[in-house]
Amino acid sequence: MSYTLKLEIDLTELNNNQKGKFLSEVIKLIPAQDFQSFRRAVSKKTEVYTAFDTEYDKIINIRKIIKLLDDNMMNLSIYQETEEKKIIISLLDLENIIDEFKVIHQLPYFTYHPNVYESGTISYFKDICEVCNQESSFFNEGCYGESDLEVICVHCIASGKAGKEHNVFFNYQYPISFNDDKKVEELNLRTPSILSWQEISWLEHCNDFCAYIGIVDCEGVSHLESELHSDLTIEASKYNLDYGDFKNALDSNIVGHLFKCLHCGKHRLTTDLP
Ligand SMILES: [Zn+2]
Ligand SMILES: [Zn+2]
Repeated sequence: MSYTLKLEIDLTELNNNQKGKFLSEVIKLIPAQDFQSFRRAVSKKTEVYTAFDTEYDKIINIRKIIKLLDDNMMNLSIYQETEEKKIIISLLDLENIIDEFKVIHQLPYFTYHPNVYESGTISYFKDICEVCNQESSFFNEGCYGESDLEVICVHCIASGKAGKEHNVFFNYQYPISFNDDKKVEELNLRTPSILSWQEISWLEHCNDFCAYIGIVDCEGVSHLESELHSDLTIEASKYNLDYGDFKNALDSNIVGHLFKCLHCGKHRLTTDLP
């Protein structure tokens, strides 16, 4: 049975400074249009954030918002509401919902894009897939190739149905150093693309494509600096920046994309500009 999760927060115990800090963190997590209603709701101490049971991105956001409150003693409730009833659930229940989400919805795993459901690539809305004509809530929007398909469900990407029947692909073919048509086909035809501003090449290592981990800032690469050293140096020189300035720019106008080798575990980095 479908349900809605609703987060309710009471901020009355917080002073204005703490409230301001909390809201300035929330605005980084949720889209601007959601933030306006969030702020209104917080001031009224009502339900501040709602996620339908298929909206994995929003369910994850509920967990992120709750984490922001960790240091503060305050009242929060998570409700699970169906047509028939509305119950309070625990943080553990929320964790279970997140843990089981991909299994319950039978979402495919993508070797080269293992965090695809968290990386911003997948959109969560109800629609009919233009390839299989089935209703789904998990879509990749857009593709390359001869067909201008707009909504393609993750199953039609994973199975290769979209790629084969419609002659479309999801990742550009950049020059690579190894020869393996199967791997190239898996990446281009059966792997959702990376959400980026410019076309970025899918990095490789150990004669294979790496797994795309996601967007990282300076802090996200700081513990990997030694293994990323050559990539960081190459990327810095792309922008004519010295090493230090480049790392600062990763926190502001340059977007870092982190990869990890599937074979030796080495991390790699490329960047683009919004
Ligand atoms: Zn489909
Ligand atoms: Zn490797």
